[in-house]
Amino acid sequence: MLIDNHNRVLNYLRLAVTDRCNLRCNYCMPSEGINFVKNDQLLSIAELKRVASLSVAQGIDKIRITGGEPFVRKDVMELMRYMSALDGLNDISITTNATLIGPHIDELKALGIKNINVSLDAIDKATFERITRRPHYDTVHENLIRLITEGFNVRINFIVLEGQNEQDILSILEVMRHYPVSVRFLEEMPFNGGSKQFEHIKWNYKAIFEHIKERYPDIKKLVSPVTSTSINYQIKGHQSTFGIIPSFSRTFCGSCNRLRITATGDIITCLYGKPKANLRDLLRQSSDDEVVKKLLQQTVSNRAKTGFEAQQEHQAVFDSSMTSIGG
Ligand code: SAM
Ligand code: SF4
Repeated sequence: MLIDNHNRVLNYLRLAVTDRCNLRCNYCMPSEGINFVKNDQLLSIAELKRVASLSVAQGIDKIRITGGEPFVRKDVMELMRYMSALDGLNDISITTNATLIGPHIDELKALGIKNINVSLDAIDKATFERITRRPHYDTVHENLIRLITEGFNVRINFIVLEGQNEQDILSILEVMRHYPVSVRFLEEMPFNGGSKQFEHIKWNYKAIFEHIKERYPDIKKLVSPVTSTSINYQIKGHQSTFGIIPSFSRTFCGSCNRLRITATGDIITCLYGKPKANLRDLLRQSSDDEVVKKLLQQTVSNRAKTGFEAQQEHQAVFDSSMTSIGG
């Protein structure tokens, strides 16, 4: 089992499969993109399989596949097939922009992979395309509705961006009220490849909640798992639920159960911290699984207690882009 130096059990791995993306969301990267790494620096599918299986052998029971955009990677379904047969892995989830998932929906369903987070930061087409800088709203919307109606557990990730999409907070709740979906509003974090810096946000979790409460006074708080990063609610009369994630305020660190491995094999024990080690060379040099497991163990035993503490050791953290970290 992976237990950190603050006695937190890590059972949730966020595994990035690429740093590349076909969108250019303005809160994630500059319009010209970032310096994407060379192909041979990305973990291969065989290496990703090995990471998944060694992690599960150490008590990870939930893996979220992320990126970059996971489906720009042509061989990603090979990893999905492998993971869906992995004993002990109870939950496989995906975070995607839903532009390219369409052709894979049937197979994902057949594999029993049901938990899909779709990033959708506006319900208005023009606003969405301004934020993502690409003309793919119709495809995303179509895939989103298909995923919901085909019975996937869909959560929408909506980053609240000052001056860009706040007018869509209430509209998306209205549009989604008849669907079995959770709309999660996230605080913006300054992981945008250096294109925008800030120390404060207007739309923190309290402001988001107050804004929704003003329009819908009858809101019920839902019971959430202790390790949940979102505070979850339901509006009376809505089939959908909504959540708010204090990703920048970081109120949830005490129960953090997450480990991140980037597409290049960096092990990140806190989103706000420096990568603590890299697995890629070890995976390439050693066929001894015990050595790899040992590195994972060692890495988690030196983990910052909170995102604020981690950030102190890593002053350049906000030069990074979320497409390299994996969200
Ligand atoms: N491309 C996929 C997608 O967009 O869903 C997966 C990777 S993306 C980096 C993972 C998550 O990080 C998305 O939900 C995205 O909205 C979120 N994200 C990216 N940049 C962010 C930022 N600066 N602040 C908060 N969340 C961010
Ligand atoms: Fe791509 Fe996701 Fe970043 Fe948008 S948030 S640019 S979809 S990696």
